[in-house]
Amino acid sequence: MTRVDVLVVGAGVIGLATAFHVKQQCPSCSIALVDKHPGPGHGDTGRSAAAFRAFFYSRTNMALAATSIAFYRSIQERENFDLGMKFIGYLFLLSEEKYGALEPVLQELRRRGLGYRVIDAGELEERLGLRTRVRGDEEAELMGLEDIEVGILAENAGIMRPERLVEYYHTRIREMGVETIYNTRVERLIVEPEEPLGLAYEPLPWQRARVAGAVTQHGEIRADVTIIAAGAESPMLLDPIGVDVHAKPKKRQVFVLRANTPGLQRLLHAEGFNPYGVMPFILLPKGVYVRPAPEENAFWVGASDHLGRPFAWEPDPQPEEPYYTYGVYPILRSYLPAFNGARPAAAWAGFYDISIDGQPVVFSEPGLVVAAGTSGSGIMKADAVGRIAAALALGKKKAVLYGGEEIDADILGTKSRRIEDEKLVI
Ligand SMILES: Cc1cc2nc3c(=O)[nH]c(=O)nc-3n(C[C@H](O)[C@H](O)[C@H](O)COP(=O)(O)OP(=O)(O)OC[C@H]3O[C@@H](n4cnc5c(N)ncnc54)[C@H](O)[C@@H]3O)c2cc1C
Repeated sequence: MTRVDVLVVGAGVIGLATAFHVKQQCPSCSIALVDKHPGPGHGDTGRSAAAFRAFFYSRTNMALAATSIAFYRSIQERENFDLGMKFIGYLFLLSEEKYGALEPVLQELRRRGLGYRVIDAGELEERLGLRTRVRGDEEAELMGLEDIEVGILAENAGIMRPERLVEYYHTRIREMGVETIYNTRVERLIVEPEEPLGLAYEPLPWQRARVAGAVTQHGEIRADVTIIAAGAESPMLLDPIGVDVHAKPKKRQVFVLRANTPGLQRLLHAEGFNPYGVMPFILLPKGVYVRPAPEENAFWVGASDHLGRPFAWEPDPQPEEPYYTYGVYPILRSYLPAFNGARPAAAWAGFYDISIDGQPVVFSEPGLVVAAGTSGSGIMKADAVGRIAAALALGKKKAVLYGGEEIDADILGTKSRRIEDEKLVI
């Protein structure tokens, strides 16, 4: 049996950021970080498209993303630790109707000082080879595709390398003395009465119960605070002790398309959007995205669908070829004809850990902190989520985000949630 002050379950970006901030704020705390995989970042963190944007309407959403991105930027620029961050921009392609509906939201963002550029259809056609007029095309009509009126290019946005962010936090926590324990599955959490009486069936309903650590496949680890940062698998540890994370796993897939034609080369290296001479991260209608991967001379393509696919977790999720062929590709080539005939050279699948409002879920119970529900934006918000989880673990009411902004530590709780609606929904 091992004893620590703080046990973190999950060495994804959330568990790593949390361990980092707990240790920074409490250097004398003994901390163990445990994961079933042989190393850090082997869960959904390693399967991420790793795009980021500080461009949200909800102030909480914005604070989480903007401060995390600023922190990562400081790592890359001041600490000279390359996270592969490229501020290539995030391009939302909007129909006339969608643009009309979003205009007040965009104006409000402008008023708050958020930089973006409105790009007209002509420029999009010229720079990206985008087909903005799809109406009248039989296939496009069938899919309900709309003509593109404008592109909104968010500037404080881009792509990064999640494995480098993992390496950063992992290196730092080890330097600070956090113990990392790999190849070790947590089987269950230990729940005990705060004052055990040695009675059968403890904790009894009238006793105050608390989480006292975890049973792993290699023995017990007891802790004053156990932090569950097990991503999409968090419910599997929390449901059995009656704690509801209010988030569910949904499969998401990424397909790699090589830039192996002159048309795709032109698209990948589209000029005029950023100083890198690379196309921005593009969000097409119907939730299809195209992320440039210039170092691989390729694109990563994926989609976020809503109704019809299960909330379900599986140990080794596989990409589905028909999902690409019938779901993603027809939209892709309708708007970007350069992709005509493009077949995936590689693909992978992982899970979004989807909460009710698409925001992370961070809360505490006696002896327990939960940091999950990152809903497909956990890379871009990990540092702030880690700071909030660390504040809860250390019994603080406020978390200090990078740059000094204070935020209530219970703001992302399931019962104490106080988050504005995200109105920038494309
Ligand atoms: C296809 C895809 C694209 C994405 N694109 C983006 C994007 O563009 N931008 C963005 O910001 N985010 C994106 N995300 C989301 C982002 O990757 C996640 O939000 C983030 O990685 C979640 O981190 P995590 O630490 O919560 O989970 P994980 O990285 O999954 O880490 C959880 C860890 O817990 C461990 N674990 C679980 N259960 C146990 C147990 N019982 N015992 C021991 N260990 C356990 C797992 O092994 C795992 O290592 C994407 C995700 C996917 C799948």
